[in-house]
Amino acid sequence: MNYNKAIKDYKQLQGLMALQLRAVLFDMDGVLFDSMPFHADAWSKVMTDAGFNFSREDVYMNEGRTGADTINTASIEQFGHPSTPEQIDALCKAKCDLFATYPPTPRMAGALELVEKVKACGLTPMIVTGSGTPTLLNRIQSNFPDLFDEGHIVTSFNVKRGKPYPDPYLLAMEKGGFAPHEAIVVENAPLGVKAGVAAGLFTIAVNTGPLKEEVLLNAGASIVFPSMQNLCDEWEQLYKSLTE
Ligand code: MG
Repeated sequence: MNYNKAIKDYKQLQGLMALQLRAVLFDMDGVLFDSMPFHADAWSKVMTDAGFNFSREDVYMNEGRTGADTINTASIEQFGHPSTPEQIDALCKAKCDLFATYPPTPRMAGALELVEKVKACGLTPMIVTGSGTPTLLNRIQSNFPDLFDEGHIVTSFNVKRGKPYPDPYLLAMEKGGFAPHEAIVVENAPLGVKAGVAAGLFTIAVNTGPLKEEVLLNAGASIVFPSMQNLCDEWEQLYKSLTE
């Protein structure tokens, strides 16, 4: 694939002569871990039981939002008012409890190899996720040993406003000491793509779920890969295009 046009368009939009790549900011669910099918099951079941109209596809369309924001957005849309804090707590807890009964989520195919390639290029890999499970750091360490520094991980505990706001990506750049022209984003969700783009970053989408590619392009993704394995296989060529 030829990436030059997408990169040229981004540079033109940002008024940049060149990218000076130093970091790759990875989303977690649906990018590093193949966890979205479980999240889709758990959210759609808990929300439907609570009287919401909430399909598996709705889960993918809301992916990236914090739990509270997901519930509030659906409540405003469907009932005309936000949820109460009590309902939000109860639904988040029910979803987490159900999710905890599922088997451990596997690493996404190609993810480990890609992060290793990124590191071998001398770039800093970071994680920017809307998730906030207590076991998250352990899970990252055991699946991606010594690849992510703890100070290079942004979770829902660190920001008030989650994706699609740019805040998580802006915080990641602050934590890592990177400017927008020094980092790129890898996302699988439309709202995650919007967050990366809103932070001024070159944003790559991997379409690991059931959504149409256009949804990710319309959200602002510069390039869409069909899988993480494909992005991993294409990395050398992409990296060359990004840095020349
Ligand atoms: Mg994701």
